[in-house]
Order: sequence, then structure tokens, then C-alpha cells
Amino acid sequence: MARSYVHEARRRVGPKRERIRPVIERLAAEHPDAVIALRFLDDLELLVSVMLSAQTTDITVNRVTERLFRKYRTPEDYLAVPLAELEQDIRPTGTFRQKATNLRGTMRLLLEEFDGRVPDTIEELVRLPGVGRKTANVVVAERGAAQGIVVDTHVRRLSQRLSFTRQEDPVKIERDLVRLVPRADWARFPHLLIWHGRRVCDARRPRCEACVLVDLCPSSRV
Ligand code: SF4
Repeated sequence: MARSYVHEARRRVGPKRERIRPVIERLAAEHPDAVIALRFLDDLELLVSVMLSAQTTDITVNRVTERLFRKYRTPEDYLAVPLAELEQDIRPTGTFRQKATNLRGTMRLLLEEFDGRVPDTIEELVRLPGVGRKTANVVVAERGAAQGIVVDTHVRRLSQRLSFTRQEDPVKIERDLVRLVPRADWARFPHLLIWHGRRVCDARRPRCEACVLVDLCPSSRV
């Protein structure tokens, strides 16, 4: 019974290949401000902000980095202070001991292998301590050269609700999405889903009655 209902809902909205463009266009019109909320001025600040944003809010990261980036301007600066001092400087972002250790390991590798610069590719970025695929994806996308699609909790939930994927694992979800989403939209697509997830398609109470995707979404409740 449940299965036939899902099948019927999918049939009603049509195949995902035909829905993806109108979904992106409508979300872009609905959320013109859907950009990364982290504040940064250069590649190093971008990398540090994204590393600090694990398991905390962008607001907290911005509050911390406002002071942090005045004090630490180069990779060398992160290695010039005692570890405990760096820990205290990033403490409000949570798991600060691990993050401080990762930051220092990353700065050391940047200096040793990348001439003190943030590398360009995901393969190089994930070699940095504490930098996983998601962080690497965010960094390259913000630099205008998306090589994948960032999958966070909002992207996962909305992609599943919109029937763009049936997977649970972020890597497999990303694989489904890069096959579906036009490459030119890889960078903005996650921002659109994140903002729509925050404002409308809540995890517990999706506001389908106020959603611009209602006729394109097999999970619509209206
Ligand atoms: S119609 Fe409902 S479930 Fe579908 S995307 Fe909109 S809010 Fe989410």
C-alpha cells in the first residue's frame, strides 16, 4: 500500500531529469540570497572557516573568525603560538582541541608541500588533516571551480524528499546528484537546498503549503 502510494506520487510529479531544472530555477527565484553564510576574504580564511564550521553554526564561526583572522593572517601565524593559545582562540566553535590540532597540521602541510597556498583540487585538499570530502567540496565550489556537490544534512533530506536519490550515504548521494544536476549549478545547488531546508522544508515539519516545489515534489503533503 505504502509502496504504491510512493509510486503514484513519483508518477504524478514526473521523472527527476525533467524536474531538476524547474526545481533549481524556482529555488533560485525564491532564495536569491542563498550563498555561503561564512565570512572570509581569501582562500586561507575560507579553508579555516569551513574547517571550524563542523558541528557548529555559521554564526558562531563568523563571531570567532572576526577576531581570529585579525591575529592569524598566514599559515606561519597558526604555528607561531602555543597549541593551547590557538585552542582558546577557537574554543566557542566546539571540539576545539581536535580542530586546533587539525589546523596546525594543515598549516604545516600547506607550508611543506603547497608553498603556503591552499591547493586547487579535492584530491589535494583531502590530504590536509581534518579536511574531508565535504570541506574540500565547499572550498573548491566557493572558489568557482566546483568538482562535486556538497552533501550536508539539508541536502540529503531534500534530495531524498524530492526523489533525486534513494541513498543514505553522502558519497552515494553526491554520485546521484552529480549525474542529475547540470555542472554549472553544482556550486549553488547545495546552497539552494540548504536555505530551502532551513526556511520551508523543515526536517520535522515541512511547510508544504508554502513551498514553491509543491507540484514537483513527490513528498508534498498538500
Ligand atoms: S513540497 Fe513539502 S516535502 Fe516537498 S520540498 Fe516542499 S516542503 Fe519539502
